[in-house]
Amino acid sequence: LDAVWVRVKNVCQQNGLLILSVLAVVIGCLLGFFLRSKGLTEQEVKYFQFPGELLMRMLKMLILPLVVSRNMFPANLVQATFQQYRTNSVPIMKTPKTTVSQGLTESTTRRPLIYGIQDDNGSDIQNFQLDLTPPPDVVFRTLPGTSEGMNVLGIVIFSATMGIMLGRMGPNGSALVNFCQSLNEAVLKIVAIVIWYFPFGIVFLVAGKILEMSDPSAMGKKLGFYAVTVVMGLILHGLFILPSMYFFITKKSPIVYIRGILQALLISLATSSSSATLPITFKCLLENNHIDRRIIRFVLPVGATINMDGTALYEAVAAIFIAQVNNYELDFGQIITISITATAASIGAAGIPQAGLVTMVIVLTSVGLPTDDITLIIAVDWALDRFRTMVNVMGDALATGIMAHICRKDFIKEGDGVRVSGGRY
Ligand code: ASP
Repeated sequence: LDAVWVRVKNVCQQNGLLILSVLAVVIGCLLGFFLRSKGLTEQEVKYFQFPGELLMRMLKMLILPLVVSRNMFPANLVQATFQQYRTNSVPIMKTPKTTVSQGLTESTTRRPLIYGIQDDNGSDIQNFQLDLTPPPDVVFRTLPGTSEGMNVLGIVIFSATMGIMLGRMGPNGSALVNFCQSLNEAVLKIVAIVIWYFPFGIVFLVAGKILEMSDPSAMGKKLGFYAVTVVMGLILHGLFILPSMYFFITKKSPIVYIRGILQALLISLATSSSSATLPITFKCLLENNHIDRRIIRFVLPVGATINMDGTALYEAVAAIFIAQVNNYELDFGQIITISITATAASIGAAGIPQAGLVTMVIVLTSVGLPTDDITLIIAVDWALDRFRTMVNVMGDALATGIMAHICRKDFIKEGDGVRVSGGRY
């Protein structure tokens, strides 16, 4: 019995956040249905939704730094990994502690509660009036939200172009590369804090959405279709597209290769984290698939950070689902925008459970879809996360195999005495 108890404790420790999130969804649903029967007023519902809305504000606050720091990826990541590979150390700059308090002071003082009333000519009338904003709004003002017109796609493209240029500048661009790296690290630390607020916010987001909905049971059916669509897409990508690419480039059997990484795939299914799976993927590629250690060490961490096929696929499907739920007709340009921003958002997602849900805000904002509708997909996300993480890990592992195949001649030519190839497979 003791052994079982220890095992249960370990599972709870490792999956604490996940367990809390699932619990939050269940509690949110129960609370939502209970309060529906009480017939709250519109004002009461608004106040009730406040903790959930706060979560959404925090997520939106992270969009800009996430998109900028993570999308300068060719320079930011590849160069940093090279550096780490060569020197085994990556310089970390300290973020000044004063920035946060300065930001808070600015955001509150620049938008004071007292506004001057303007006359027809636009000049201030001396007679000031108090704007009695309800408390939640006062709190929101302390967090930089995303204005409706924020051009996410433009920022993605600009950051990526900057990244390519920085990469080409070599050492001359390293100051900005280091800056991005520090920014990235700091943002991920903030994400880690926000993530712990997640379960609490989710209770109110889910319950608040149920209070707003006209027919919650019809939503359940739509959600089922959505989950099936995501899983089918992941199966198609993981079992057909990725293996075919591996086969066409290397002319080796993808089945044998995938059999070698089976253990890593199972771990990713269990942990929902491609970062946590990284050591196992490394071991599988080295011991079972006989890929050169140097190639794994370079390709795998880069892949685990920026190559998330499963997440990109899921984010695109989720955005289209949210558009359909809102009867929002997407035109061709918007679909293209979704595919580009979903890719960017997947690059921005960390390899941890449900990170894709956080960066989903980027995709929705890019086409003007309501970001709080993320609530609709939260209920099934804990399950879908496991499948997309599996595809993420598979993508990285197959890419490493392809890279080993492409580089095999160069490595042998260098004459370092080590036989480097894609191994037996
Ligand atoms: N859990 C995924 C991963 O670790 C990221 C995501 O949420 O999509 O790869």
